[in-house]
Amino acid sequence: MTTRPRVVVVGAGFGGLWAARALARAPVDVTVVDRHNYHLFQPLLYQVATAGLEPESIARPVRTILRKQRNVDFRLTEVTGVDLARRELATDGGPIGYDYLILAMGGETNYFGLDALRRHAFGLKDIDEAELIKNHVLACFEHAMTEPDPDRRRALVTFVVVGGGPTGVEMAGALSELIRLVLVKDYPRLNVKDVRVLLLEATDRLLAAMPAPLAAAAAQKLWDKLVEVRHGAVVADYDGQAVRLKGGEVVPAGTLIWAAGVRAASLAAKVGLPTAAQGRVRVEPTLQVAGHPEVYVIGDAAYVENDGKPLPMVAPVAMQMAQVAATNIRRGLAGQPPVAFRFRDPGTLATIGRNAAVAYIHGFSFRGFPAWVVWLVVHLIQLIGFRNKLVVLINWAWDYLFYERGARLITRRG
Ligand SMILES: Cc1cc2nc3c(=O)[nH]c(=O)nc-3n(C[C@H](O)[C@H](O)[C@H](O)COP(=O)(O)OP(=O)(O)OC[C@H]3O[C@@H](n4cnc5c(N)ncnc54)[C@H](O)[C@@H]3O)c2cc1C
Repeated sequence: MTTRPRVVVVGAGFGGLWAARALARAPVDVTVVDRHNYHLFQPLLYQVATAGLEPESIARPVRTILRKQRNVDFRLTEVTGVDLARRELATDGGPIGYDYLILAMGGETNYFGLDALRRHAFGLKDIDEAELIKNHVLACFEHAMTEPDPDRRRALVTFVVVGGGPTGVEMAGALSELIRLVLVKDYPRLNVKDVRVLLLEATDRLLAAMPAPLAAAAAQKLWDKLVEVRHGAVVADYDGQAVRLKGGEVVPAGTLIWAAGVRAASLAAKVGLPTAAQGRVRVEPTLQVAGHPEVYVIGDAAYVENDGKPLPMVAPVAMQMAQVAATNIRRGLAGQPPVAFRFRDPGTLATIGRNAAVAYIHGFSFRGFPAWVVWLVVHLIQLIGFRNKLVVLINWAWDYLFYERGARLITRRG
């Protein structure tokens, strides 16, 4: 029977997986718990949604990733609550006890209480949602081919993306390229002038984390790619047929993709810990929960401020927090005090499509082809598994050379 402390990690995303790996040589037994059996590389989800990649190439089974690590086990189950006093997780598969707990359950789409959006819009947070978007977009073109009413036909091929952050920008650019470079060949009878891709942003600029000139360059590039970029456009309602904006304008559209908000995963609200903006769990600078030093919260689910502002919900934050949580558990076992987390910002990147990206790295701004190459390399390096890297590289090369997207099957009809 083991007498080593048991560290339970909830979530096998960027935070959880990196924490489990960082504990490889620690004198502990680690149990990683996730409701999916795979780690998902979310930054490339939009390429699944736009038929560029198959889901398998951006995800990898957790057991495969961790198979060489001897002190780790995996449990496929949904965590439904935490009994902090008993140091026990409630899960669909029964209770799991812990000595240390790392909560890394990530985030979910935030519809800001707009129920109609929740029902009719598409989120982009997991493989199912990306596949739903892909199936729906392709089905819209099929239906448009047989729709006799011109207004309804135009609405079928009007695609609205909401949110001018990196996800919205990347999604809108990729969608426009899918349509204008690839689908036009499959639908030669379609009047391409009917097709519209709109990117709606509530504020007066895109890409808030980047300097204004880069944001303006991204907006211009999107216009070049025939994406209609609208600033100051706030969505008030959507019924699946038309988007109503605050101010009264109505845009008939059969598709609305919501990339305008993220908040902590619903589990954060169920664990009974103090939360802050976006439902994220407030933690100490050491990433421990006040009053529960054995509990760490990291990644999108954690609320930590940097220079008075909450840290962004991005992968580097989750990965760096994972390192600090693992370090602090090791230090605790050795009788040493915990260290505080400090974020080292590696920079921000966003691609707008082929040959086009913007990058802001350590105070340097660049754009166009060089930024696009950096984007490609960074994403390939970060993708887990050699097979996935190879498959993604081949898909990108094929798409680049032949203007083709391989994953254009409608696998489910809504
Ligand atoms: C479309 C999209 C594009 C993005 N692009 C970028 C980008 O370009 N660059 C960047 O840095 N960041 C990007 N991000 C953000 C980045 O993916 C997140 O910040 C990062 O994944 C956070 O890591 P995490 O470990 O906190 O959560 P996640 O990686 O989301 O992992 C959370 C895990 O917890 C599991 N889980 C949740 N609840 C439960 C439960 N109750 N029971 C069991 N398991 C549970 C989930 O299944 C998941 O595996 C993007 C996100 C999205 C959605």
